[in-house]
Amino acid sequence: MIEVLNPANGTLVGEAPAMSRSEVNDAIERTCAAFPAWSGKLAKERSDLLRRWFERIRDNKAAFAELMVKENGKCLAEAYGEIEYGLGFIEWYAEEAKRVYGDTIPSHAAHSAVTVVKEPVGPTAAITPWNFPFMMITRKIATALAAGCTMIIKPAEETPLTAYKLLETAREVGIPEGVFEMVTGDPKGIGELFTGDSRIRKLSFTGSTAVGRLLASACGQTLTKMTLELGGNAPFIVFDDADIEAAIEGAVGAKLRNSGQVCISPNRFYVHTSIHDRFVEKLAERVSRIEVSEGMRDDFVVGPMINQAGFDKVASLVEDARQRDAHIILGGQQHAQGGLFYEPTIITELDDEAEMAQTEIFGPVFPVYRFQTEAEVIERANATEYGLVTYYYTQELGRSFRLSRALEAGMVILNTGSVGTASVPFGGVKQSGYGREGSFYGIEEYVDIKYVLMSGLDR
Ligand code: NAP
Repeated sequence: MIEVLNPANGTLVGEAPAMSRSEVNDAIERTCAAFPAWSGKLAKERSDLLRRWFERIRDNKAAFAELMVKENGKCLAEAYGEIEYGLGFIEWYAEEAKRVYGDTIPSHAAHSAVTVVKEPVGPTAAITPWNFPFMMITRKIATALAAGCTMIIKPAEETPLTAYKLLETAREVGIPEGVFEMVTGDPKGIGELFTGDSRIRKLSFTGSTAVGRLLASACGQTLTKMTLELGGNAPFIVFDDADIEAAIEGAVGAKLRNSGQVCISPNRFYVHTSIHDRFVEKLAERVSRIEVSEGMRDDFVVGPMINQAGFDKVASLVEDARQRDAHIILGGQQHAQGGLFYEPTIITELDDEAEMAQTEIFGPVFPVYRFQTEAEVIERANATEYGLVTYYYTQELGRSFRLSRALEAGMVILNTGSVGTASVPFGGVKQSGYGREGSFYGIEEYVDIKYVLMSGLDR
């Protein structure tokens, strides 16, 4: 069994099965066997099942939220927020299932017709991370099921209990065995079984770029279609004409969500040198008012890092900054309550060679860099192998437009720190991956296009 521990206090929350290869293979068999019947259902039938699942979860939010606080460490308010976000995908794709339209194209030949239809790619698989144990799963499975695909999911080892609860509620409303399967156990072995089976026609992976690369090369052997939602190194740019109060609110919200353990968490704050000191002072005042605590309470608090490795990474990045004589304005060490809690930290006077300028921090750390010109900050923002999201704050229309074009990211966000919802295409460029989740674009990842030419029809 896999033991699931509460990162806030190390207590045992529950267990999930560490499945053998043959158990995983059996689940893959069921996923493949269920495909013909599921893809053959009317779109409305699939839609109705998704809608019922949405309603069942909506009526059980509290049980999900409390479980997520215990296994992930995020606070209750954030757990409820994630449930709303994740439910949005089930609701959206329950509707979208009915709108997988094709096309007709004016024919190139006499007495013929050209149509284009979209067909589900087949049985699919997904591997998900721990930072959004609910939403990461609903975002993938709702899309797959709506398109007519079946799906087998391997959730993260740290957060399998929320995943199994999602499976349980899916079964309760009649989403059949095989249509939605779940496996837990050795990640490498499961990854090999998913990618080595040519009947699995698509793999959707969210996680680190390192693991994404491994899976992509394995999928190269079977030419399995992929969606890759990988790491980020998000810039957050504040120009001298920005609304500073709004920028502070956006920065704090985006950064401290899930204690900074989010792929779209701002990782580099570039603030125009003329407002730098004022920004840092206000940011420190705002952040110092936020409590650090375990999450079973109603207000927003910063929680623990997910595990010791996550904690050590944050501590070591801050230590590197300290060695470089950066200024630690706030925090900079383990929080007084010990364990996996790290203090919200603000660091200034860092150079672009610092480790945290290149690496995803995944913790509650705000590194604030100075910049002078628009051209300079665009170049520095883009000087990363990642390209998931960029935030920027300015009131000038021309600059807003120029930056929306110049920034290398799948998502470019002006004057807010809030990014995701079911109706928009989420995803990255460069080493942040490829493919999109959410919106009408998301379902395109689960369909193949079939061109049908019918000739000799009206002679
Ligand atoms: P991770 O180590 O890559 O793990 C993600 C998933 O992959 C887990 O289920 C893990 O299983 C599994 N895994 C690990 N090694 C594997 C292997 N060799 N073969 C197959 N599967 C394997 O990432 P993480 O630390 O959990 O998550 C943080 C990363 O995810 C960050 O880089 C973050 O930016 C990224 N992320 C990206 C997005 C996005 O949408 N772009 C969203 C959230 C997170 P175990 O848990 O069992 O080890």
